[in-house]
Amino acid sequence: MQLKDQVALVTGGGSGLGRAIVERFVQEGARVAIFDRSQERIDEVRKVLGDKVIGVAGDVREMADNKRAVSECVKAFGQLDTFIGNAGVWDYSKSMVTTEEDALSAAFDEMFAINVKGYVLGAKAALPELYKTKGHMIFTASNAAFYPGGGGVLYTATKHAVVGMIKQMAHEFAPHVRVNGVAPGGIGGSNLAGLNSLSQQGAKFSDLPLDDLMKQMLPLERAFHAPEYAGAYVFFANRRDNAPGTGGVLNFDGGIGMRGF
Ligand code: NAD
Repeated sequence: MQLKDQVALVTGGGSGLGRAIVERFVQEGARVAIFDRSQERIDEVRKVLGDKVIGVAGDVREMADNKRAVSECVKAFGQLDTFIGNAGVWDYSKSMVTTEEDALSAAFDEMFAINVKGYVLGAKAALPELYKTKGHMIFTASNAAFYPGGGGVLYTATKHAVVGMIKQMAHEFAPHVRVNGVAPGGIGGSNLAGLNSLSQQGAKFSDLPLDDLMKQMLPLERAFHAPEYAGAYVFFANRRDNAPGTGGVLNFDGGIGMRGF
C-alpha cells in the first residue's frame, strides 16, 4: 500500500497504459479520477474498480474540461496528490516525405494539441491543488522522447517537447511540486489512436506486430505490456521513496538505446 490515502488524476486513464496506472494506484491504496475522452472506457474501468475511481469525460485540449476534471476529483476525494498527464495519440510513423503539404499543418496542430498542450493545460488546472498537498506531476513521454524511429517527425517532436516541459515545470514549481516523467517503450495491448487529420481513424495499434518487434529489437529480448510500466509511476508518486526527485525522466523501455553497434 505505497499510496495509501493518496488521490491521483490520470488523463487517458480509460485504456492501455493509463488504465494500468489507475489499476495499480488503486491496488496501492489510492483513489483515482480518470479523465478520458471515452465515456465507454471510463465506464468499463469503473465497473471493475467501483467507488475507488471516478470518471470525467472530456478533451485534454480544452482548459474548461481540465478544470472540471480537477474539481470533480477534489469534490469526490477531498484532495489531489498526483496529476498524471498521459493521454496521447500517435502518427503511425507517418513519414514527412509522403505527407501531403496540405495535410501537414493540421496534423501538426492536432498532434501538438493533444500530446503537448493537453499536458500543459492539465498541469495548469492541477497546480493550485498540488501546491496545497505538496504533490507530484508525472508525465508519460516515450522512447520517442530520446531516439528516432518510435514515430514520425510530429510524434517524435511532441515527445521531445514533453521532456523540455517537464524540466521547466520542475524548475518553476519547486519547492512546492515535484515534476517527473516516464519514457516507456512499446506497450503491447494498447489502443494508441492515430491522427484524424491524417485519416488514421481506422488504424488499429493492435494490428502491429509490436510484441515480435520488441523481442527482435530490444536488448532485453522480450515484449512489455501496460501493467509492467505502471510501477514507475507509483515510484514517482510515492512520497517516501521520491523525496529527492524532480525534473527526471526515466528511460523505461527494454534498453532500446543500449543496443550499441
Ligand atoms: P491508449 O490509446 O490505449 O490510451 C490513451 C487514452 O487517452 C485513450 O483512452 C483515449 O481515449 C485517451 N485520449 C486520447 N486523446 C484524448 C483527448 N484529446 N482527451 C482526452 N482523452 C484522450 O494509448 P496508450 O498506448 O496507453 O498511450 C498512453 C501514453 O503512452 C501516450 O502518451 C503515448 O504517447 C505513450 N506511449 C505509448 C506507447 C505505445 O507503444 N503504445 C509507447 C510509448 C509511449
